[in-house]
Amino acid sequence: MPNRVFRKSNPKSDITKLPKLGLEKKNFIADFKHYYSHRLGRDEHCRSPHYAYEALSLAISDRLVERWKTTYNTYKDQDCKRACYLSMEFLIGRSLSNAMLNLGVDDVVNQALYDLGLEAEELLDSEVDAGLGNGGLGRLAACFIDSCATLRLPVTGYGLRYEYGMFTQQIQNGEQVELPDHWLRMGNIWEIERPEYLARVKFGGHTQTHIDEKGQKRVVWLDTHDVLAMPYDTPVPGYKNGTVNTLRLWKAVATEEFNLQEFNAGDYAEAVAQKNTAENITMVLYPNDANENGKALRLQQQYLLASASLQDVLANWVGRHGKDFSKFAEKNCFQLNDTHPSIAVAELMRLLIDIHGLSWKEAWQITSHTMAYTNHTLLPEALEKWSVSLMQTLLPRLMEIIFDINAYFLREVSAHWPGDGERLARMSIIEEGYEKKVRMAYLAIVGSYSVNGVAELHSKLLQEGLFKDFYELWPGKFNNKTNGVTPRRWLAACNPDLAKLITETIGDAWITNLAELEKLKPYADDPEFRQKWHALKQASKQRLVEYKKEEVNANINVNAIFDVQVKRIHEYKRQILNVLHVIYLYDRIKRGDTQNWVARCVLIGGKAAPGYVMAKKIIKLINNVANVINNDPAVGDKLSLIFLPNYRVTAMEKICPGTDLSEQISTAGKEASGTGNMKLMMNGALTIGTLDGANIEIREEVGEENFFLFGLTETEVEAMRPHYDPQAYINQDSDLQSVMHLLECGHFNQFEPGIFDDIIASIKSPYDPWMTIADFRSYIEAQKRVEQAYRDQDHWIKMSILNTAASGKFSTDRTISEYNRDIWKLTPVDVESK
Ligand SMILES: *Cc1c(COP(=O)(O)O)cnc(C)c1O
Repeated sequence: MPNRVFRKSNPKSDITKLPKLGLEKKNFIADFKHYYSHRLGRDEHCRSPHYAYEALSLAISDRLVERWKTTYNTYKDQDCKRACYLSMEFLIGRSLSNAMLNLGVDDVVNQALYDLGLEAEELLDSEVDAGLGNGGLGRLAACFIDSCATLRLPVTGYGLRYEYGMFTQQIQNGEQVELPDHWLRMGNIWEIERPEYLARVKFGGHTQTHIDEKGQKRVVWLDTHDVLAMPYDTPVPGYKNGTVNTLRLWKAVATEEFNLQEFNAGDYAEAVAQKNTAENITMVLYPNDANENGKALRLQQQYLLASASLQDVLANWVGRHGKDFSKFAEKNCFQLNDTHPSIAVAELMRLLIDIHGLSWKEAWQITSHTMAYTNHTLLPEALEKWSVSLMQTLLPRLMEIIFDINAYFLREVSAHWPGDGERLARMSIIEEGYEKKVRMAYLAIVGSYSVNGVAELHSKLLQEGLFKDFYELWPGKFNNKTNGVTPRRWLAACNPDLAKLITETIGDAWITNLAELEKLKPYADDPEFRQKWHALKQASKQRLVEYKKEEVNANINVNAIFDVQVKRIHEYKRQILNVLHVIYLYDRIKRGDTQNWVARCVLIGGKAAPGYVMAKKIIKLINNVANVINNDPAVGDKLSLIFLPNYRVTAMEKICPGTDLSEQISTAGKEASGTGNMKLMMNGALTIGTLDGANIEIREEVGEENFFLFGLTETEVEAMRPHYDPQAYINQDSDLQSVMHLLECGHFNQFEPGIFDDIIASIKSPYDPWMTIADFRSYIEAQKRVEQAYRDQDHWIKMSILNTAASGKFSTDRTISEYNRDIWKLTPVDVESK
């Protein structure tokens, strides 16, 4: 491809100089019409709102691209330090309404749509979610890049452009059915393909050592099967500040010279079909949340991300600085979102040594001063380990480098603890045994200058438990960065009426400085304000019922407590405990114990990993219990249980505003942070929760009197574990006996005998890692306090206001400021004044 279209005589061509695009209503109307008829070729007879969505998105995208170029050039001119956020997942959801909000054109565009006779809601609803992630970790990455742009930080997101994102969940006969999510089928107007930045990624082959002309030992990686990585860029607008950063997602494509031999042998079709093996790499997102997978394809995905992204950054560096890497570490850093991209540690070493000719020492100096690692979980089943033999086959050069990194590292350990062989084995990046494995978390720690957890408790447990040896060796590396969520999407955009009330009351500075919300505190005592707050909550609950009407046929009372647990289905998150409480309430209704009853609508949503049998059983249990309760005339509208199918970002945006009670009931010590808890708090929900993850900090911020605490602490859980006796709890608790009886007698599975036996056995087992039964009584009592509080509506509303008012800490603007202050050390860049 020619790299310049300009004639030599006119090197400063102004073909990219354009007048600024207008932001007035008339400009949007004109551009909308232009795109609708000329670009998309539709007319007034077209009934699909999708093309109206596309036409408007193209008009908005033009404005983003304009600012994107200015941002790019400003960063380039200033030669500022940059950070890259490497993540296998970006759970973005929709882009249009967020882009409108951040550009500051939401009101004017809504007026334009009104004048055009278009229904804004219908148009926005035709956008499909970009569901390139599983849950919290992927959504965090999306919130982070929003905050980076809003804080004017030069940060690029790097990820994978999966052809199929997180599966669509359907419920049939109470069971989860997975449908492929072909989110690109209708096209994606937000991305721009960038073939000029194509990267080549090697797999397989073998290595060879030789001595170069300078007498240096050099390694070459030969006979590889190469794959190309094609970048697709998505603009990431900051909030009303002229900054538009980049999210660069890689798609695997076949090289042009694929399998010539077969081609020449006349097997043209076979050779072309080989293309698929290359393109399979980014075909599908692995739908396992907090669970390692071990599949070769997953390792290929991880390496493609790491290699293509690092090559991209290095090519840019060499283009500007040539082969002088002396200032590289001053100007670049890489944040690894969990261990998924941690092969980047070895890949940066390879690129610097094999491709750019640096010595091991120089390369290690750069690598270990540019990589930073965020851990997201303590669950042993989520800790990634790749078999050495797989890595030797797929990435032989990388495996050699990892062995060398480990050798140098173990030398350092020996020097620190002479003669401590056990510690050496414990800390080795290579796990010995029948099948040798690479411990990816250890590779990440050894190669990074910063290691952080995602909430105070989680970071503390990392230092005291999982990474104790490493903490003793390098205490200064370890730090905490409590997660957050972006208040643009999770309050301003998803709850516009509440946002308006807040802005009318305390001004709009909260949108970029969420601590401002504490100015709402005094209004909790203002009856007029409380009345407005309450009216908005009720309206949101009504909207939530409407949104779910087609999918859900239950008798919903908007005066009931909307009691919400939405998150991935996982045993540690204990959806089962929630169901036990619902069964307990049902049992009380059946026994006629309904004095001072507070109506409750329990909403549970979430996807189960397709291979996680127990999680899928939990979905079936929720649906079966719902079926019995919702169809029992004796229950009426006192209680309903609803499973919300296909939980995703867009669903959460509708659920947040209408939630009264947020269920955050994981076994203490197991939820690293949680972010669903923060979104719901921000929107005025009260939390019922354990002392786990960020719940602890939420309770600290809002005060214990505004939080429903229950359950064992992490220390108590671990102390009890060796002699945990669930049967003893059952014997002592007649309510729990009734609940277990209803489950065990098949009341919820009359025509499906035995289907819940595994669930029952798991919670009755003394080895139940999640210790559900241990927290039953304490949970029931906390739920009674919830009801008592809800009966006093005035007091409840007051607590709701105080929760929003105290949610300022949980903005990713705060989180990212801390990442920048302690780890990245970037200087904010003012783009707007350019
Ligand atoms: C916020 C969010 C999550 C994370 O929820 P947790 O309760 O923290 O597990 C998962 N999925 C989606 C779609 C989200 O928006």
